[in-house]
Amino acid sequence: MLNFELYNPTNYVFGQNQIEKLASLVPANAKIMLAYGGGSIFKNGVHAQVTENLKGFEVIEFGGIEPNPRFETLMKAVEIIRTEKINFILAVGGGSVIDGVKFISGAVNYEGDAVDILKKRILFKDVSKVIPFGTVLTLPATGSEMNSGAVITIDATHEKLTLGGSALFPQFSICDPTVIQSLPKRQIQNGVVDAFTHVLEQYLTFPQDALLQDRISEGILQTLVEIGPKVVENPTDYKLASNFMWCATMALNGLIQKGVASDWATHMIGHELTALYEIDHARTLAIIGPNLYRVMFETKKEKLAQFGERVFQVSGNTIEEKAQNAISKLVAFLEEMGMETKLSQATTNYEDTANFIVNRFEERGWKAMGEKQNITLEKVREIVELSY
Ligand code: NAP
Ligand code: FE
Repeated sequence: MLNFELYNPTNYVFGQNQIEKLASLVPANAKIMLAYGGGSIFKNGVHAQVTENLKGFEVIEFGGIEPNPRFETLMKAVEIIRTEKINFILAVGGGSVIDGVKFISGAVNYEGDAVDILKKRILFKDVSKVIPFGTVLTLPATGSEMNSGAVITIDATHEKLTLGGSALFPQFSICDPTVIQSLPKRQIQNGVVDAFTHVLEQYLTFPQDALLQDRISEGILQTLVEIGPKVVENPTDYKLASNFMWCATMALNGLIQKGVASDWATHMIGHELTALYEIDHARTLAIIGPNLYRVMFETKKEKLAQFGERVFQVSGNTIEEKAQNAISKLVAFLEEMGMETKLSQATTNYEDTANFIVNRFEERGWKAMGEKQNITLEKVREIVELSY
């Protein structure tokens, strides 16, 4: 097992009606920016619940954070926080709003050109330099409610880039599973597949000597296989909703990543597909993931075979056969979850995609990815072309 530190300061507040604790979670002297997205929180009653529980606090609202949040939009919030001397941010929404708030939190006191936070991958480690924030989660998927990473799109250059650092954990996250009742089916499907892929990025890696991590990861994967299709059809079922929400958080709150090498190339390539074609984040992962496993088969076949046996009960006479069967089962599960697994199903305009992505990675100096740093630019090209 690899050496690790496990640090996660987020106070995770889970369950029905937990929003009633909001006033006690926010610092007493808080002047709050309430940040949200396109307005779903007005339709499903979450905005009313939040404001009801923030009576007595000074609150300035900032709406309009897009899915795949835009640097340009977030900078407007940064300006408001500076002029209004706001000292706490409450993110109310899904991964996009929470990620957007992480960027805002770091950018307010950043002294250079804020776009460098993304272009130079600045890490925020000093909590005294960021604006503290909490979240009210409305969409289980990203794990952003209990991690310190974020993904932001620069509109001007169509780039989707990451930021993070230990100072960017939410102080608290209120996670009430009943919020998923108002989610469109497509977003529930996305949430299950994003969470599933987060586990795969940390589990389908080599070496494979973190036995407990494997079992925890397999537990999350098995649970998502069991409940994923059902929660899409029955989002009001509390047993399904609560288990889905906890799985999505556990998939990316740092726990299963400890002691193992992680891959993340499916996400890195997928981000480019969103930046290019505005394909939903999870749907890019469904297009890239299985093809990455096909191209990197030799590196990953032992773990693929274990995944197949333990999560999908596949059989086979050899490691290779089990690993192939695991990929087939994965594709079948993604399709059952409403995903298209080919780029040509998601856009008609895909011909030069591989070149475009490889050139971009080259410009950024990203020459090798994956847990073994053996996903070279040639492999990236193969993976993308296979996904056509
Ligand atoms: P999202 O982009 O936050 O939200 C998708 C859509 O769902 C929005 O239109 C939103 O509407 C709507 N919505 C959210 N909650 C709703 C509810 N309860 N009822 C009805 N509609 C609701 O989706 P997401 O999948 O959570 O986040 C995706 C983003 O997170 C991507 O940019 C992705 O790259 C990033 N990501 C981050 C991490 C991380 O660790 N930080 C990991 C993976 C992915 P409104 O805008 O009106 O709210
Ligand atoms: Fe993701």
